[in-house]
Amino acid sequence: MSAVQQTRQRVLLSPPDVGPREEELVVEAVRSGWIAPLGPMVDAFERGMAERTGRQHAVALSSGTAALHLALLEAGAKAGTVVIVPTMTFAATANAVVYTGAEPFFVDCDEETGNLDPELLERALGDLRAAGEVVVAVVPVDLLGRCADYTALLPICERFGVTVVSDAAESLGSTHAGRPAGSFGSTAALSFNGNKVMTTSGGGMLLTDDAATAERVRYLSTQARQPSVHYEHTEVGYNYRLSNVLAALGIAQLERLDEMIERRRSLRQRYVKLFADRVGVRVFQHPGDAGDNCWLTAVVVDPQHTGWLAGDLRKALDVAGIESRPLWKPMHAQPIFRSARSLLTGVADRLFDTGLTLPSGSALQPSQTERVMRTVTEFLGRV
Ligand SMILES: *Cc1c(COP(=O)(O)O)cnc(C)c1O
Repeated sequence: MSAVQQTRQRVLLSPPDVGPREEELVVEAVRSGWIAPLGPMVDAFERGMAERTGRQHAVALSSGTAALHLALLEAGAKAGTVVIVPTMTFAATANAVVYTGAEPFFVDCDEETGNLDPELLERALGDLRAAGEVVVAVVPVDLLGRCADYTALLPICERFGVTVVSDAAESLGSTHAGRPAGSFGSTAALSFNGNKVMTTSGGGMLLTDDAATAERVRYLSTQARQPSVHYEHTEVGYNYRLSNVLAALGIAQLERLDEMIERRRSLRQRYVKLFADRVGVRVFQHPGDAGDNCWLTAVVVDPQHTGWLAGDLRKALDVAGIESRPLWKPMHAQPIFRSARSLLTGVADRLFDTGLTLPSGSALQPSQTERVMRTVTEFLGRV
């Protein structure tokens, strides 16, 4: 078997799910002549996404990281300021803070959801204020598709006068308290990376209800060009816009978003059934996931009750050609952020040690799903 065939056969965590509708719209974009870089597909994609998330404005960008970077600049992040980030997240959240020159401060998470712990956040904000530090923003992350507890977080941030930038890279299509993911905070960032609920192969979006912010972000993301016949620049800009061809992919994916989320949800339900009677194993973020997009399903394994580790299941899956992965390694434990400040309880460390994300993609074929379920069942019968 060639290497290519082998990679094809391996069951991946969350591969892109694209088909004939995506092909049709990409071809349409190419034939329309709108290749470089902006065009009508970008405008339509932005309108569609604003509507979907209940926002006034949406700016299509080259990645979710770019959206976070510009959102943080707009929030006033710069050298000498502090931005609070949950330690349980993907590195992009913290990296975007560093791009601005601000200092990331890591706060631990809630055991059930893995999301930013509101009480701990309040303590961190109080401590930092007492020390005379300037905290400009908090970036709650909607971990694995579960919205952060905005009901608790937003009033705390408001009381401290701190801007909320919502990292909704993983949560498009989810809801919290009846409101869509991406609608919380002054700004929110979406990601259309290849592994997310929907993809533009690479891309992101900044969402806001503030017209001036949207305008500034459009300007900064197109090299901060002043309106003049020659290119005039009064500040540093970025090349962060999404291309029209990729927006075509996005429009097709957005049409299929609900259907794709339904598939992830039914996979989640299969896992819930599979682990239902296993003492010491819980399906992460379940129950309470009725409003979630179920981006990734993970299990949390308590070895004192199971006698086996999450890593043992990972190895068994790997041997069967099935990808699985620990939860995000907490930022405070990453070598690059070793010297960063943080407020920790040990929850994120524990989730990292005991959690395992399982194949969750909407493109999984029935035969692949069966292989995953069979492999887990056999593992559970053996241990
Ligand atoms: C994927 C992701 C990002 C970054 O998005 P890109 O589009 O890959 O730049 C940011 N934050 C979180 C939590 C993510 O999962």
